[in-house]
Amino acid sequence: MPSTHERPRYIGRVLKRPSHPRVAIALLVFVHAIAVGGATSWATDAGAAAAPSKVTLTWLGQSCFVLATAAGTRVVIDPIPKGIGYELPVGLRADVVTISHEHFDHNNAGLVAGHPRVLRGLTADKKGWTKVNEKVKDIAIRTVGVYHDDKQGAERGLNTVFIFEVAGLRIAHLGDLGHLLDDKQLSAIGSVDVVLVPVGGGFTIDADRATRVIDQLRPRLVVVPMHYRTTVSTISQLAPLDEFLVGKANVRRPPGNVLPLTTVKSRPAAEVVVMGYK
Ligand SMILES: [Zn+2]
Repeated sequence: MPSTHERPRYIGRVLKRPSHPRVAIALLVFVHAIAVGGATSWATDAGAAAAPSKVTLTWLGQSCFVLATAAGTRVVIDPIPKGIGYELPVGLRADVVTISHEHFDHNNAGLVAGHPRVLRGLTADKKGWTKVNEKVKDIAIRTVGVYHDDKQGAERGLNTVFIFEVAGLRIAHLGDLGHLLDDKQLSAIGSVDVVLVPVGGGFTIDADRATRVIDQLRPRLVVVPMHYRTTVSTISQLAPLDEFLVGKANVRRPPGNVLPLTTVKSRPAAEVVVMGYK
C-alpha cells in the first residue's frame, strides 16, 4: 500500500506554469548567486559557472542539497519537486544527481539541467538496493542500503545512505532514514565528517532518534538537520526543528544557504549547522 508520503498531493500546483518570464527568474538566480559569494553560481543555460574555490554544500529545502567541489563538479542530492514550498533554481545544472529513494519529494532528476548522470539508490522495482560505488570527476560516491521505516521496509520501503568523498571530506546523506543503524550498517558507512540527517519525524526518524543516530555515527565536523517543517514547507506531518535542537551545545546558524565545508574546523564535538533553504 503506498504511503501518504508518496501521494502527489500538490499536483495542481505542480502543473501550474510560473507567472514570471523565464529570463527574469534566471536573472534573479544570477543576482542571488553573486550575493552569496559565487558559491551558487548555477550555470544557467545562458552561461557557464565559475568553479567554487572550495567544497560547498547548499541547502535547497527538504532533503535537497547541492554539493560543489573546487574543481567545479556538482552533485544535486534528492532533488525536490515544485509545490512543497521550496523551488529548485531555474537552470540548476549538475554532473550527477543522487536519489535516496523513489518518493515524490526526493526523486525529481528531470528538473535538473545539464544532462546529469543519475545515480539511484534503489533498483527499478524498488525491492532492492543498487549498490553505487562510483568515481565521478573528483567525487567518490557509494551507497549503503537502509530502510524508510523501523520494520525492514514493510511500511515505507527501502532507503539509501549516500556517502560522498571529496577533498578529504566524507559526507553522509541519510535520505529518509526510518530507524537506528545496526552494526553492519554502521561499519559499511564508516567514519564520517559531515552528516545530513532527517529530524522531522512523521515519515523518518524523529528528533530523538536522529540524535541517537548521530551518536552512533559520531561525525567529526558537522551535522546538518533536514526534512523538517519550515515556515514555507507544505508537508504538514513534519515536525519543526525546535525539538531536535533541545540540549544541543554547538548550534550555529550561518546566514544564507551555502556552507563552505573546507573552512569548517575540527573541534571536540561536531557542530549542528542550521542552514537556510535560500
Ligand atoms: Zn521525504
